[in-house]
Amino acid sequence: MGKTPIMKQRKYGKGAYRCTRCGSQGNLIRRYGLLFCRQCFREVAEKLGFKKYD
Ligand SMILES: [Zn+2]
Repeated sequence: MGKTPIMKQRKYGKGAYRCTRCGSQGNLIRRYGLLFCRQCFREVAEKLGFKKYD
């Protein structure tokens, strides 16, 4: 018996999305129809008038 591949390809989930601003794949935040990483979200949110996200 060989190893059985348990992990299936994920088309969504971690790694499926990228920050639309800088292309980062870490700590993505999807809010208000936006898709940014945490860092970009804070900057954009401030410009757009959203509350600071912590
Ligand atoms: Zn970013």
